[in-house]
Amino acid sequence: MPRPEQQTATILLSEKNPFDLSMLNKEGKRSLAIVETDRFGEGATKETQDLMRSMMSAHLLGPVMPEKIETNFDFHFSEILNSLYDYYGKKKPRIVKLSGQVKPAIRDETVERKQFDQATSHSGGLDSVYRIVKLLEQREVPLAVHLKNLNAKGNFREALASEEQCRAWEVPYLSVKLRNGSGSTGFETMRTRDLLLALTVAIESAPNKVKTVLIEGGMGNSKDFHFSENADVWKWFNQLLKETGLDVEVVGVDPGDIETIGEIIDLEKKLGISILPMVQNCFSAPFQVDNNRRKWERETPIIAEKSSSHWCGSCHKCRRMTLGRIYYADPRFKGVSKKEIEYFVQDTYHWMKLYPNNADLLSQSFLSHLAAIG
Ligand SMILES: [Zn+2]
Repeated sequence: MPRPEQQTATILLSEKNPFDLSMLNKEGKRSLAIVETDRFGEGATKETQDLMRSMMSAHLLGPVMPEKIETNFDFHFSEILNSLYDYYGKKKPRIVKLSGQVKPAIRDETVERKQFDQATSHSGGLDSVYRIVKLLEQREVPLAVHLKNLNAKGNFREALASEEQCRAWEVPYLSVKLRNGSGSTGFETMRTRDLLLALTVAIESAPNKVKTVLIEGGMGNSKDFHFSENADVWKWFNQLLKETGLDVEVVGVDPGDIETIGEIIDLEKKLGISILPMVQNCFSAPFQVDNNRRKWERETPIIAEKSSSHWCGSCHKCRRMTLGRIYYADPRFKGVSKKEIEYFVQDTYHWMKLYPNNADLLSQSFLSHLAAIG
């Protein structure tokens, strides 16, 4: 019997940008790059910069996991790929050097900037907003780092909202822009997504000598979790960061669900700042938002009027927001009638029946809060 053809992918590093990688395989070309900056990597050791290229490669390779990988640069930290493959029950890949090698420029390892104890990955959504305001409550100001174009959708609105929030709350804000043609999307992107995110935040804030990088928690130990969501993987990864000379620990902050909205309403009162209206969570495409809102403006006029321009009303994130604000008595919702609440509850139960895929994304917290107000 003939042996099945070995899957091969070629990873090519650009000669101009040390963080610009392409992957060629039989399905075509994918790419991932950090663009519009020549300071990314500054303040981090050469080893940490090498690790970043390996992490970016892992994000490109994650959806396909080919057996053989050819590279035009010196591939360090192959243990990332070995662990990733092993996690999904695959044999470790064979990494082969191509003949024409590119030597990446090493960015200045000695750069130092203003010190911060913590950096937090900041998408502009509810959970990342919560991480910031919780620190503000403790009179700590973190460095917020936004990674633009990490996800397939909503990137422009997230970038705008995250920057506006930080300006309003006087939190220093840095943005790293990805050119993301990785094709790594959907649930499978979680094979590597959060490791890439955390490492990017850690490197961008390396000159600031941060000790802790905060990201969204909810990691677990079983194989039901993807590689970049697994608590043991994070232990190993934190160790790996230290080995490259990056003295930082990545910590996942566990978000509550509807409870988080209640806590934020309390924090608004305590800190005297407006938070919820600035949160960008909506899952609808921008062109759907107005359409979705129309129904709510007709049936629940006060809820619609008192919801932010980021709110479509109908996606699961916007329903989560409305539910939390009703349950935890957001003062801005004071004039909302029983009739509007009833409409919201009935419509949400109906929507869950109609779209079981969306209902699957709902937490126990969502269901119990909905039952309580219904
Ligand atoms: Zn929405």
